[in-house]
Amino acid sequence: MLAATAAAAARRLIEAGRALAARGWLPAGSGNLSAVVGRDPLRLLVSRSGADKGHLTDEDLVLVDGEGRPVDGGARPSDETALHLAVVATHGARAGAVLHTHSVWATLLSDLAAPDGELVLEGYELLKGLAGVTTHGHAERVPVLENSQDYAALGARVAAALAARPQAHGLLLRRHGLYAWGQVVDAARRHLEALETLFEVEGRRRQLPAR
Ligand SMILES: [Zn+2]
Repeated sequence: MLAATAAAAARRLIEAGRALAARGWLPAGSGNLSAVVGRDPLRLLVSRSGADKGHLTDEDLVLVDGEGRPVDGGARPSDETALHLAVVATHGARAGAVLHTHSVWATLLSDLAAPDGELVLEGYELLKGLAGVTTHGHAERVPVLENSQDYAALGARVAAALAARPQAHGLLLRRHGLYAWGQVVDAARRHLEALETLFEVEGRRRQLPAR
């Protein structure tokens, strides 16, 4: 059962990687993608360190346990696996897949919004692309955390930030990028596409002369 679930998740992750790379959101092979393929015990299929996310193969996806250790040996998982695990552990079934991008607009806006600790997106029709959101009047509060290379410590900060915002669909790391999640890979991809697009809209809006 696990093998069949993992094979199906791998196909969706490979397709998501191709699509997100085509948008320019995974430059220089950066970013990482994962999907939960078992909850008891936790099993996460995650892209390996150094893989080109636009051209993933089955060999580029590593099955890890709840501590981020490869279950079957083999390739080294992404260095940011601890952050994926923090999201799936904190958000439960709402986060069956986690996608992480390094776009220009996420990098810029996360820096501008960092002093506030969050980026607020409000009044946009595309917010309805987020699960549970039914009106453009929704205010999506995307937490912004300071970046770090200490992924264990950062994972703990991610878990704390998400515990305080159980309805969040994404999280920004300052001058780094976006983490978005959903119940399944395609839902996470929809959330990521909505948020990344709104980042660009918001960034370009701020460039326009004030009316
Ligand atoms: Zn990253």
